[in-house]
Amino acid sequence: MAWVENDGVKSWREEVANATLVFGSRRRGQSVGSYASLNVGLGTGDHPASVASNRCRLSASVGVDPEKVVMARQVHADRIIEHEAPDPDTAWARGEVPDRDADGHMTKVAGLALAVITADCLPVAVVGKKGLGLVHCGWRGLAAGLAQKTAERVAGEIAVIGPGIGACCYEVGEDARSCFAEYPEAHADRHLDLASICRQQLLATGVQRVQSVDMCTYCEDEDFFSHRRDGEITGRQGTLAWLN
Ligand SMILES: [Zn+2]
Repeated sequence: MAWVENDGVKSWREEVANATLVFGSRRRGQSVGSYASLNVGLGTGDHPASVASNRCRLSASVGVDPEKVVMARQVHADRIIEHEAPDPDTAWARGEVPDRDADGHMTKVAGLALAVITADCLPVAVVGKKGLGLVHCGWRGLAAGLAQKTAERVAGEIAVIGPGIGACCYEVGEDARSCFAEYPEAHADRHLDLASICRQQLLATGVQRVQSVDMCTYCEDEDFFSHRRDGEITGRQGTLAWLN
């Protein structure tokens, strides 16, 4: 596991069993202003042409064909899509909003790259006997059991939690805290440790090893967008995961 840089695009790369996981940073994209610069999200008002260019730049920098990247519109729910072929609308490559909703993805097909976009929520990859899973989950997704459900679908053995907001910076309301009363070690005053909750949930489903990159999107502003830090008008970094 290490930062790798290709054509100026910096991402954190992990090789886990038969899968490759890439957690992208915000560096060296085409977007400007609040979206500077490698913004791969369309939901906050950036120019679609810039987003399309950034998505292709990220996938190209790690050797992935942008037409083989599959994604969905993220809605903080618990639906999982199993991908068997490239998206017909190739939304990633074309810089469009996908027409399907899902926050969890899985595949058994080598070379098909699952994608989620985040700015504080956790990107979590799970590699197992029945394939590869990738989820986007904030507290709502964790409360809905999305990471666990995805791990169960792929008979998860090893998981990696990517960059997300750390307990250092994540003060939440009673609505979020009350969902996780069974994880007392994930609470510190009003702060919540999403990665700790996710790790415990995954271990409980039988995942044997849960790694974390231990990077806080709020603290590390040079590398990551953060919704909490920057407000509504900011970008999203991309995570790509595929079976080799
Ligand atoms: Zn922090």
